[in-house]
Amino acid sequence: MEDMKSLLVHFDRKTGLSPDRDSIQRKLSAMAGMYADVVKFAEMVEQDDVLVYEFYDLGLPEKAGEVAFGTSITYPGKVGDEYFMTKGHFHTILETAEVYYCLRGHGYMLMENPEGEWETQELKPGCAVYVPQRYAHRSINISDSEPLVTFFAFRSDAGHDYGTIETKGFRKLIVEKSGKPVIVDNPKWIET
Ligand code: ZN
Repeated sequence: MEDMKSLLVHFDRKTGLSPDRDSIQRKLSAMAGMYADVVKFAEMVEQDDVLVYEFYDLGLPEKAGEVAFGTSITYPGKVGDEYFMTKGHFHTILETAEVYYCLRGHGYMLMENPEGEWETQELKPGCAVYVPQRYAHRSINISDSEPLVTFFAFRSDAGHDYGTIETKGFRKLIVEKSGKPVIVDNPKWIET
């Protein structure tokens, strides 16, 4: 990538997959500690450690002025009543905004900042979501049959901080109640 002058990447419009590249894949077992129902989680991992989400890291130089972009594909499924989702992250440079554009499926972007403010935005095809600076973000697929496919772009030197969410979780969860998504407090959320 050092001598990169331009970069043409093909993403399949329906699947979000890029046939020429390898995606980074997160199976259910990689999500240990992130779901409220730990018993159900352990059962499911033992039965079938399915792919929960995958995304493309295009290897763009992590330096100022570059824009990192790719697609994220979150598959349908639930652990108990909690939908399949990405781990979610802050950016190492907290003052980083990010844009997501939904290509396929139905879901939510769950966001929160260190000050305790949180927000959700619906993801549906044709809609863009702006993740403001300082907000951790997680994609959640609420469809029971279709992958949630989004395109994302952010400053390339921003870095990822997964550890904070892995340790503390998000303040809120989106779970299914009577067939509908509802926002509830995360019983495992740790105030520090
Ligand atoms: Zn991000």
